Amino acid sequence: MARSPRIAVVGSANTDLTTFADAFPRAGETIFGSSFDLGFGGKGANQAVAARLCGADVVMVAKLGADLFGEATVKNFASFGIDTTHIRLVEGVSSGVAPIFVEPNGQNRIIVVKGANDTLKPADVDAAAEALGQVDAIVLQFEIPLETIYYTVQFARRHKIRCLVNPAPALPADLTQLTGADYFIPNETEAEVITGLPVHSIEEAKSCAADLLRRGFSRVVLTLGGRGCLLCTSQGANLIPPFTVTPKDTTGAGDAFIGSFSVFLAEGEGENEALSRANLYAALSTQRIGTQKSFPTRSQFETEWARRGGKP
Ligand code: ADP
Repeated sequence: MARSPRIAVVGSANTDLTTFADAFPRAGETIFGSSFDLGFGGKGANQAVAARLCGADVVMVAKLGADLFGEATVKNFASFGIDTTHIRLVEGVSSGVAPIFVEPNGQNRIIVVKGANDTLKPADVDAAAEALGQVDAIVLQFEIPLETIYYTVQFARRHKIRCLVNPAPALPADLTQLTGADYFIPNETEAEVITGLPVHSIEEAKSCAADLLRRGFSRVVLTLGGRGCLLCTSQGANLIPPFTVTPKDTTGAGDAFIGSFSVFLAEGEGENEALSRANLYAALSTQRIGTQKSFPTRSQFETEWARRGGKP
């Protein structure tokens, strides 16, 4: 194609503060931890980074605190070449942070403080309207206020821009406000919470996706972890098989999937082809530890795609 795909993410950015320790402290106790890792995360930020690494021009619409984490997060976006013009630093509220405590057996305890993510409002979408009006796709998750997500779906409809909604983490939402999205992309847990239906077997996944179609969505993609993904439309259900990998850490696989899928679609790939490519991009991300740090570059992806002949 003549130009790079353009993707906008209206979403969250968090800083993950991971402390590794031999044990969790008891109430009132202070202990020494063994090590610490600062990582940039938040589903919105992760999906923006995946789209950028896949080669898109990416604009991020987000709110951060006017604090050290906010400044560092903007620098992190900029280091990837993501457009930060529509990221605002808010006084008087912290950046979104996730203090994470990990024991040697891998057991973790996480507290997410949404902070400035909760202040991303429809007015911020309006403020970014000119940039948003020029993108091939807008990508949304559930880590910002629902009213902003509903508003952005309507914005995308009005401007005939493709819109992908990833309802993560699962929250009770007014689905009638979301059916204008072109793609609704939950994982198994999110699909279960949203529909109240079980998603263990592929047959159950098909019934759950059919339920979402009955509620008004036109295209549903259920991500099924190591089983690939399922596309459901009025034409029927199609299971797109996974690529075999040896996973080390599946954190962020869903974000890798959504970010890369938005780019492959914008490049003009057919739906099934774009989903198969997203399956490989996400599978490759599970081979490394971390979220953004685990996402492959476009050339790493292409090498692997060619090596496997584009076949799972
Ligand atoms: P989330 O990270 O949101 O829980 P999933 O676990 O459904 O999402 O993973 C998203 C996508 O990542 C899957 O649809 C698949 O393409 C890929 N994936 C995840 N785990 C594996 C795995 N073990 N082997 C191959 N692909 C995987």
